[in-house]
Amino acid sequence: MALSSAAPLPAATVPAARLFFALWPEEALAARLADLGRQQVAAQGGRPMAEDSLHLTLAFLGEQPLSLLPALLQTGQRVAARAAWPFAFNLDQGGYWPAQGILWLGCSRPPVALPDLAASLAGELAALGLTLEARPYVPHVTLVRGARCAAATPWHPADMPAWTARNFRLLRSRRDAAGTRYETLGCWPMGGNGMLS
Ligand code: ATP
Ligand code: MG
Repeated sequence: MALSSAAPLPAATVPAARLFFALWPEEALAARLADLGRQQVAAQGGRPMAEDSLHLTLAFLGEQPLSLLPALLQTGQRVAARAAWPFAFNLDQGGYWPAQGILWLGCSRPPVALPDLAASLAGELAALGLTLEARPYVPHVTLVRGARCAAATPWHPADMPAWTARNFRLLRSRRDAAGTRYETLGCWPMGGNGMLS
């Protein structure tokens, strides 16, 4: 029997994507972070994040129907319009999450603009019916996966330049045989509707 146009499609047939909003470092900072990742791999093992994949997640949406994309692009634009650009912070504290062997770099004293931006996105997403995980927001950049450290001892990178955040992105995460790649779907603030040309 044919479905009427008003009937929802079965979940498995709705085109969907794994989505997240994130800050993206400028090239010079990404190069420094990638260097640090490679140094950590030399010392602790694991796989470094690719230089062009390094990011700081603001809001993880998980698997969502692509029909939400226009609303998410509007969300990005609205949130960016009221964010306190630019704001700067120091990635001054390293950590280790043993379950996936993640070595990460975080911020011991984040400026209020950073959690505010994450909370602002979470609020707009909740208004769209998307509830994020309730766990506390820990701003961090994953540098290495699969590392095997003896203990979860905090570490401190030397001479890491400050990160000046001027925009954020909406990304699609895709897994294939080669690993996980991120595709930029929108970037704000940049005028227009946030779409990259
Ligand atoms: P992998 O394919 O190995 O999982 P990944 O973790 O980089 O690679 P995603 O799982 O798609 O890719 O996650 C994208 C980003 O969102 C990453 O920064 C990840 O740490 C973050 N993230 C993933 N799941 C959550 C979650 N439940 N809560 C908060 N952030 C998350
Ligand atoms: Mg993941």
